[in-house]
Amino acid sequence: MRVSVTDRCNLRCVYCMPPGGVRQIVHKEILRYEEIARIVGGSAELGVRKIRITGGEPLARKNIQALIRDIRSIDGIEDLSLTTNGILLEKYAAELKDCGLDRVNVSLDTLKAERYTEITRGGDFGTVMRGIEEALRCGLGPVKINVVPIRGLNDDEVLDFARLTVDTPYHVRFIEFMPVGDRAYYNEKMHIPTDEIKSVVESLGELKPVKLRRNGPAKYYKLPGGEGVIGFISAMTHHFCRDCNRLRLTSDGKLRPCLFSETEIDLKAPMRRGAPDEEIRRLLRLAIEAKPEGHYILGKAGKGRSMSAIGG
Ligand code: SAM
Ligand code: SF4
Repeated sequence: MRVSVTDRCNLRCVYCMPPGGVRQIVHKEILRYEEIARIVGGSAELGVRKIRITGGEPLARKNIQALIRDIRSIDGIEDLSLTTNGILLEKYAAELKDCGLDRVNVSLDTLKAERYTEITRGGDFGTVMRGIEEALRCGLGPVKINVVPIRGLNDDEVLDFARLTVDTPYHVRFIEFMPVGDRAYYNEKMHIPTDEIKSVVESLGELKPVKLRRNGPAKYYKLPGGEGVIGFISAMTHHFCRDCNRLRLTSDGKLRPCLFSETEIDLKAPMRRGAPDEEIRRLLRLAIEAKPEGHYILGKAGKGRSMSAIGG
């Protein structure tokens, strides 16, 4: 289950948010930590084993350490990870590890300092790189670096990202750009299919498939002599819906069975009305049963919550 703890962010990536940010959910509508822990507890009883904390920017929410500690203490949760833009990672990595976080995914779409500031509208590349190194040092590995290759924005850096896996243990994962939210930032010409990225990477040498313990939706490979691995996540061109067992919890307490479907099941309202655990579990089961068999997103226009609001 992916748990979005906030819709707010300390960056404004050009493909995710407008310069002024998205309309924010009012504070009282955001789930409190004890509410999140209750939902995670209920889902663990139903068999959820992996929790990923995301946002918005999860490290920008006050005292996120407390939530990590609470979730860590829930029976049945075997894997606890967090997706971050890395800006606050250097500051918090050691503490997060102490609270029981297993690992981090860091979003990084360029290895060029100036371009980083442009893409994120103000972020500092050096700060993120120090955060990544600190995460590795603190044992929050394997550190996964998530790259969204976008035509005309950073597609000239695919090889540089792939090369990073030769001498470092990082898992570099290329994620297909998706038409999520109001899609003001998406157009089909910007989308680069995984097959195209893979063939660029193959110019560096043969890609050997590797099986990792928790592959999730990514397909992983190694370059000859590579210390790290390269992953491809293609929600658009190679649907993995049949194997997808993810649920998403939005920061305002809605369960989304699928990233690409507008279907949401409200958990916050029943909880705040005093619903017993049994009722929460019934709603969780409903969300699992509501998972669609597939999505038909490619090429379609649509609207809805942005990635920062759903939790990417
Ligand atoms: N702020 C954190 C971060 O950037 O890692 C967590 C939330 S962010 C919404 C999660 C991931 O979603 C990031 O890796 C980001 O690159 C990705 N993302 C945002 N919009 C996307 C889109 N339209 N298509 C594919 N990935 C997207
Ligand atoms: Fe913030 Fe992450 Fe969206 Fe960038 S991708 S604006 S860091 S939520």
